[in-house]
Amino acid sequence: MILPIVKYGEPVLRKKGARIDKITPEIQQLIADMFDTMRSAAGVGLAAQQVGRALQLTVLDVTGVKDRPSILELDGRPAEVLEFMPLVLINPEIKPIGEPAIGPEGCLSFPEIYADITRPESVEVTALNARGETIRFKAGGLLARAVQHEVDHLNGILFIDRMTSKVKNEHREEIEALKAETEAMLNSKT
Ligand code: ZN
Repeated sequence: MILPIVKYGEPVLRKKGARIDKITPEIQQLIADMFDTMRSAAGVGLAAQQVGRALQLTVLDVTGVKDRPSILELDGRPAEVLEFMPLVLINPEIKPIGEPAIGPEGCLSFPEIYADITRPESVEVTALNARGETIRFKAGGLLARAVQHEVDHLNGILFIDRMTSKVKNEHREEIEALKAETEAMLNSKT
């Protein structure tokens, strides 16, 4: 089922997600709905906060992106990214490594807003998958960027927080307009 995507201005986007202790049928359904929602919006990642749930849960799939490579290592060896997709990360812990890299980013909670963001080029990830098994991997390229963007969401951090003040100033009007629109929508509901 496709869920409504929460836009900037809704307080849930600023909430740190609660850890998931047990993968219940309800969580499994939420994961399936998040994949439906992410794919219908042509996104590469979606965090639980973006469908209104403050949980340590994100889904990713870089399969459709042909022009921005992803790198994956399992047990220190290069691995096939596509075979590792789609990806469910529950209670993820990440360790950024490598030099800072600049790349373009967007966010389904900020329609039409794209900006260059600097993040470490690689990341080591430990998480549970949808079956509750521990997975560990090292990501580079687009996958590293996407994982860091989504794990930020799980901690209430948004990509506008990672913009330089110069870049944020360039987008200030769009960001403020989106927030005002979301708040007007929320006020009309109450
Ligand atoms: Zn996002």
